[in-house]
Amino acid sequence: MISNSKVLALKYRPQTFDDLIGQNVVAETITNSIKADKIPNAYLFTGIRGVGKTTIARIVAKALNCPKGIENKCKDKCDNCDAITNSSHLDVLEMDAASKTGVDDVRELIEFSRYGPTSSKFKIFIIDEVHMLSKQAFNALLKTLEEPPQYLKFIFATTEVKKIPVTVISRCQRFDLSRIKSLELFEFIKEIKDKENGRITDDALKLIVKISEGSVRDALSLLDRALLSLDKDTELNLSSAQKIFGFFDKSQLIDLFELIFQGNEPRVIEIYKKIYDQGIEPKVFINDFLELLYYFKNINSLNLESTNFSINDNEFKKIKNLSNQIDPSTLILFWQFTISTLDEINIVSNQNLSIEMFLIRLIHLSSMKKKNNIERNPQNEIPQEFDKEEHSKTINQIKNITQEEKSNPEINTEIKSEKKLLINSLEDLIEICTNKKEIKLKYELEKNVNLVKFENNRIEITFNDSLDKSFVKDLSSKLFEWTGQRWIITFSQLKGEISINQKKKKIKQNLIDEVKKSEVYKDVLKNFPDAELVDVNLNKKKRNFLMTDFTKIIDKAKELESKMKESHQKIKEIRVEGVSGTNSVRLVLDGEGEMQSIELSEQIMKEEKTVIEDLIVAAHNSAKSKLKIKTTEEISKATGGLGIPGFKWPL
Ligand SMILES: [Zn+2]
Repeated sequence: MISNSKVLALKYRPQTFDDLIGQNVVAETITNSIKADKIPNAYLFTGIRGVGKTTIARIVAKALNCPKGIENKCKDKCDNCDAITNSSHLDVLEMDAASKTGVDDVRELIEFSRYGPTSSKFKIFIIDEVHMLSKQAFNALLKTLEEPPQYLKFIFATTEVKKIPVTVISRCQRFDLSRIKSLELFEFIKEIKDKENGRITDDALKLIVKISEGSVRDALSLLDRALLSLDKDTELNLSSAQKIFGFFDKSQLIDLFELIFQGNEPRVIEIYKKIYDQGIEPKVFINDFLELLYYFKNINSLNLESTNFSINDNEFKKIKNLSNQIDPSTLILFWQFTISTLDEINIVSNQNLSIEMFLIRLIHLSSMKKKNNIERNPQNEIPQEFDKEEHSKTINQIKNITQEEKSNPEINTEIKSEKKLLINSLEDLIEICTNKKEIKLKYELEKNVNLVKFENNRIEITFNDSLDKSFVKDLSSKLFEWTGQRWIITFSQLKGEISINQKKKKIKQNLIDEVKKSEVYKDVLKNFPDAELVDVNLNKKKRNFLMTDFTKIIDKAKELESKMKESHQKIKEIRVEGVSGTNSVRLVLDGEGEMQSIELSEQIMKEEKTVIEDLIVAAHNSAKSKLKIKTTEEISKATGGLGIPGFKWPL
């Protein structure tokens, strides 16, 4: 069935300009210059590997030396052209600069060039990977290149034109060989497949084109593999080709992208599962997703070549169309989100689930964006803030899923949506709104509501004028849905706490003020007197600390304050007794250490003055130490269980 004794790349190596694919302009220019007898002293072909540089070099050598002349070209092979094809032509010398880089090699070559051609019109030196030559070798070459004998022609090929001295390049006619366009390459390998009687679907062939990234040589060697792996009577289709080449088709990803923006969750998951079933590693998937995001964001400043053919012509067009309907800021958001998912999948044990959640989150992010655009929210920074919050919360959520066994049950109640939720604070409520995508409620809670009291299914609030009229109704029904209990939401006459957003701003301002006190900031001001501190960002770990622990500490500090007031009153009421000299001195101190009374026995008055003084001091000290124990007890009742790290009561 397959009659290739040679590998395809050799068997189907183009022998004439007509066989060449994707290099029409180059072929025409060279043909015309030979016809017009304006042959340069040297040709230089550059381009990526496998694009046909040495093949063209040989074709040019044939075109120059074929006795039939350029007009008739050598369709039926002549001895001359055969010899060039087999690298055995006496006057055509091929040298691989990768193995012969030294000045002596070049001198030998130049020595050889002193004598004219033996059997043909030109003596031709083909130097492959010419950039590998040493500096001296280039210098030795340069003299001959400047004034070569009429019969001598050079043909250079290189993948790295930048490594060739400009003095050499300027003596050459330079041709930059472009990658082969997908369609041309497809038609080329399809033709070869037919000649080889291979049975491969067009989709599988397109995959080969895609993987080979514009290199004919790669495409042919992949086709080789595909043909060899064929079972008799079966046609190689896309999915088996993907398995053979371990490759995953970007067009699936583009479809996925489109579905994400359509908000089609079931189909998104279905397609991802298909991709996964092809054996694609989650990490590979995420990396490819990133690459695609890059194309979506930048497609308007890219052309097909600059995508390294990782996408084909059709995909390029599709991305272009789609990207025009997508807000660039969404893509940037997706980018950040995808990067962090890359970190995330290292933490979780089931990476697949993590990816599914990642995709679902993207769907919700994009629908949120849309919604925000429709509502034309005047405060544009708000939606972004939501997204950020959303982001960090969901990461925590994922971590929690894997640590479910160990983790705090309080947190888990927020994740297991089928179970009823516990909501114990405004912060809890806002977090749940985030998880449940109740963005409007979250917005109102953060922006327009000041909390007065939050306890046992009762929320007491004050609000500003911007609060939505249906807020109470919406919140009550959601609370019922989430907790299975009726909640009472009342408006208070009292002044509430500052809103969450104000709180955050305040924390931020405190942070800025703190940094302004630092030595580093002073140093900066010394060196840049015009500098102004606008914002402070803590690193991720500390920021998390700020968002959760810090607000909790503030709340606890408030709680502490009121408890301290209470205990202060109790301390005032404390009375302790100090006794010495077997009840001969008896005194009473109040909670603040003031002496309330002192009693001296009859007998003690008979003692010496210094003895009496000592006994009074002893009684006082005993009362003082009792007082210390009592007040500490009282205070620890107030602070007990608050567990504020590093907190010490100033006693
Ligand atoms: Zn010929």
